[in-house]
Amino acid sequence: MHHNSKLPHVGTTIFTVMSTLAQQHNALNLSQGFPNFKSDQKLIDLVTNAMNSGYNQYAPMAGNLELRVAITNKFEKLYNISYHPDSEITVTSGATQAIFTIISAFIKPEDEVLIFRPAYDCYEPAIALNGGKTISVQLEAPHYQVDWTAVAKKVNSKTKMMIINTPQNPSGTIFSEEDMLKLQDLLKGTDIILLSDEVYEHIIFDDKNHQSVCMFPDLKSRSFVVASFGKTFHNTGWKLGYCCAPKELMAEFQKVHQFNVFCVNHPMQKALADYLQDPNHYLQLSTFYQRKRDLFLSLIKDSRFKFTPAEGAYFQILDYSNITMENDVDFAKRLTIDHKIAAIPLSVFNTDNLDNKVLRFCFAKTDDTLKQAADILNSI
Ligand code: PMP
Ligand code: GLN
Repeated sequence: MHHNSKLPHVGTTIFTVMSTLAQQHNALNLSQGFPNFKSDQKLIDLVTNAMNSGYNQYAPMAGNLELRVAITNKFEKLYNISYHPDSEITVTSGATQAIFTIISAFIKPEDEVLIFRPAYDCYEPAIALNGGKTISVQLEAPHYQVDWTAVAKKVNSKTKMMIINTPQNPSGTIFSEEDMLKLQDLLKGTDIILLSDEVYEHIIFDDKNHQSVCMFPDLKSRSFVVASFGKTFHNTGWKLGYCCAPKELMAEFQKVHQFNVFCVNHPMQKALADYLQDPNHYLQLSTFYQRKRDLFLSLIKDSRFKFTPAEGAYFQILDYSNITMENDVDFAKRLTIDHKIAAIPLSVFNTDNLDNKVLRFCFAKTDDTLKQAADILNSI
């Protein structure tokens, strides 16, 4: 049987490639972004409670109402912003499904979608599957700052959507308030939809504040905010997240969502609704991960790897140009096979696979794993 692939240039995601290689070679896996420690037992018990209390059938299409109310309360508390639980919030199967569904709901053939590279890898295939065209703005290592004048030159009448991600995966950088104000100015008077991937909103370091699009009125009115419980509560395998948007945008989203998944795991939604009642469950996350970042960096400070400390998310970029000039994919594979430590090469997220000789290491790991990782990195 013959068929033409809808994604002829797409292979297996780098996260699967590197995690599989790490497993095959029994290497420490600091590649794919997930914690190697347990989620809070209290949260796990709440799932069991929810199952025992009968939350075992379909949830409402938009999500369990108690959870949507808890999300509304979280936005009010954190940002003094209101999203209505009835019409402006949908609970999704992770941020990935929210992103795919947003893109499917709005992108038509020939529409342009502007993204910043290095970019998380699920954006471009979703745009392509809907016939859209990805327009990339390449950010430069090591600071990955945005030149908003250059961005403005890429915006035209075909631009339907822009995707931003702060704190950013894979670079570990963040957008400042000034970035957000420049973005707001740039989009003023256009019909461009903004998809704001904020899955690392609670992981931000050195007393900086997360700049959510919802805090900027002219951005909020055109935006989807996308969030992931997996990142916040150390359970990436549960695949639960949500998105928020003004009701006209959310109505279009739900037209697709209802036929894409209809609804997502009900007992876990009920458990998350209960768990969110205590804001400390997410407010302590920055301190928790900053300590891990600092431990990891202090342990490798005398190694041959160079770094600028991550500003947010749980990824640290390490520059290996003092060690070798081999390409980053080859070096990442060699590190895994010969040195038993796996990381993610950044070139796969860049325009034309630009190779800056940097790798991404996930520090959402136990202190013991971080120490073992540092021992290896110090020996290279
Ligand atoms: N966006 C970014 C930037 C991510 O790093 C990830 C991975 N967690 C996702 C989206 C997808 O999140 P989820 O696992 O909730 O689908
Ligand atoms: N978000 C995770 C990362 O950046 C991976 C998720 C996935 O494997 N698709 O590593």
